Amino acid sequence: MFAWRAFPARGDASPGAYLAVPALESAGIRIAFTTRHGGFSGDPFSSLNLSFFSGDDPDVVMANRARAMAVIGGDPASWTSGRQVHGAETVRVDGERKGAGADSPETTLPGIDALWTDEPGVVLAVLIADCVPVLLVDPAARRIATVHAGWRGMTSGVIEATVRAMGAPDALMAFIGPSIGPCCYEVGDDVAEPARAALGPDVERRNGTMRVDLWGGARIALRRAGVASIHLSALCTRCEPHRFFSHRAGHAARQGLLATIDAA
Ligand SMILES: [Zn+2]
Repeated sequence: MFAWRAFPARGDASPGAYLAVPALESAGIRIAFTTRHGGFSGDPFSSLNLSFFSGDDPDVVMANRARAMAVIGGDPASWTSGRQVHGAETVRVDGERKGAGADSPETTLPGIDALWTDEPGVVLAVLIADCVPVLLVDPAARRIATVHAGWRGMTSGVIEATVRAMGAPDALMAFIGPSIGPCCYEVGDDVAEPARAALGPDVERRNGTMRVDLWGGARIALRRAGVASIHLSALCTRCEPHRFFSHRAGHAARQGLLATIDAA
């Protein structure tokens, strides 16, 4: 379901690639799971850092976002994102909220980890570096959601809350993007216990060290919410710190899941 695509070559920027979902394009839905490559930021944010909250130069972040949005046909002014707090708040992005967080950290939607819309031309964005980006799409009704789900958000029910907000779970397809895998997510009891309590014993992995399977957790939450069509990229950000930003690898920068609906 996923396919790598290169950014169009550009002399003043490093080469980059993104993970697309070609099957959604006939419905006019365009997706980019970005990596750390293809942007303008210098170390330690090199190079496609999309976050205002990382300490990077905001003008450079905006240039990075513009390059990433161009591959899905997004207007930079339509970027819409939340100030993510690992919570379960979901918001519908309409004309009024479109563009929140596009040009300044101050306009970012406060306390929001998940966004959904049915309005063409809005670019939904969640930013991650190990947390799990979940894309929800109803291709027939042309509705999309982007969800930022780390262990806190997942145990708080952010995935179920977003599915509930959208409705019609049997029409939804879910895509779990690059994030820390069960190979690398070593945790203590402070994480394992609430994860097990919220998502069941299957999320725990004991093999020398204790680990939590966030990909499996996302799957459990999606199934619980009534979503049956679930697609996993199975790419671990911590395993590939040269391709992805990884919080556990010490990166402050963020990659993104960007999604938009083409004008019909
Ligand atoms: Zn890994």
